[in-house]
Amino acid sequence: MRLFSPRTSPQTMRRSTIGAVGLCMALAIIVVAGATLVAPSAGGSDDAERGGTMSISSTSTTARPSTTSTSTTSTTVAPVAVLPARVFATGNEQLDALLATLPAVLFEAGAPVHFGYNPVDCCFAGGYNPEPNEVWVSEKALGSPAALTYVTAHELAHSVHLKSGRADGLTAAVAGAPVVRAGSPWDDSEKVADCVAWALYPAETAASGLTYWDCPEPYRSQVVAALQ
Ligand SMILES: [Zn+2]
Repeated sequence: MRLFSPRTSPQTMRRSTIGAVGLCMALAIIVVAGATLVAPSAGGSDDAERGGTMSISSTSTTARPSTTSTSTTSTTVAPVAVLPARVFATGNEQLDALLATLPAVLFEAGAPVHFGYNPVDCCFAGGYNPEPNEVWVSEKALGSPAALTYVTAHELAHSVHLKSGRADGLTAAVAGAPVVRAGSPWDDSEKVADCVAWALYPAETAASGLTYWDCPEPYRSQVVAALQ
């Protein structure tokens, strides 16, 4: 369990509940108007790390004494390559395990993922803070593997939408789609985040029951194209 002590009491955008599930499972997205957020990282890095080792055994050469002046040389090289892997330490093993399986595109914006409630917008299943660029996934997303997958993919997708070079392409991919979060400046980003989740994890996203919309065609295909 971590403690967070935001120094400010930022104004936050309203957040809407999702579907008929109710308040508890709502995904929260906040934006801070004119405030500086301080979300201290209390130990442990949530940044992806890459670890890889290669071990090569020693090379031995043995020359046998021989009356015929010949020798036998034995050389053994046994490379052992360990594939690079992202290692996460969010504070929750389920979340760590899931993150290691997610596609690289979700990490293009470099947003660290924290387990816990968003310190500036408690207490929802997930949240994304654009400043700083951070994703939060809480215990409320642990109700099922599907919910955890959807919430995590959705929140990371916000970071990709808002903090990567894919921003314009993703926004264009949902242009003309109906409003899914009326009155919110996050409307476009919620569309994108859900479409990314639907594109990558359709079964889990459907099973979660937490989505803003179902990202119908042509939007889903357009988002898929924007992720290529
Ligand atoms: Zn969202």
